[in-house]
Amino acid sequence: MKRAWCCVALVVACSDPAVPSRADIYGFSSGAPPDVFHWPADRLPVRFYAQPVGNLPFLVQRGIDIWASGFLYGEFTGVVVGDSTSADVVVAADSVPDVAPDPGPWVYACSGVTQYPPVDANNRLTGPPHVHLTVLVGHTEAEVAACLRRTAVHELGHSLGLLQHSADSTDLMYPPPEVAAPSERDRHTAEVLYHTPATILPPP
Ligand SMILES: [Zn+2]
Repeated sequence: MKRAWCCVALVVACSDPAVPSRADIYGFSSGAPPDVFHWPADRLPVRFYAQPVGNLPFLVQRGIDIWASGFLYGEFTGVVVGDSTSADVVVAADSVPDVAPDPGPWVYACSGVTQYPPVDANNRLTGPPHVHLTVLVGHTEAEVAACLRRTAVHELGHSLGLLQHSADSTDLMYPPPEVAAPSERDRHTAEVLYHTPATILPPP
């Protein structure tokens, strides 16, 4: 009998630090027994719709390219599409200031969440994962821009199947992200994920 992934939607909130660990890779599955999701080769390039808010489409394409460049054999590729109804992943934001990102130390000036829909009886996602970026008040536009830039890449990591967080703040998948780009451990974890059989199927 097929087991449903979860009775409710999986939500990866990105503000809670994980338990410390120094492993070469970190976990990428969800639930117990663990479920694994990644985009199959016949669904590439994954189609991302970015809500036309500020330079969000640019941030999404940039994040796709950063992750894709970390794979050795093209296991993940993605493209921004203009039609949300045909998208595999939907990315939205409250607002995105179109200014140069602050070059200083990281500031928690925004937050992100990635929500996966429930699965059907065949363990297939019933719709696209949704990413939402939120601006936090009390920060400069440049600090917000820098935060959205790194948080977009972090959330895209969830959307390509990294369903857990790293416990090391030098990894991009640490919550909330403090670095701007995937570390070697982030890239290695994603590579291992894409060579692990998935138990969750992509949406129709
Ligand atoms: Zn996260």
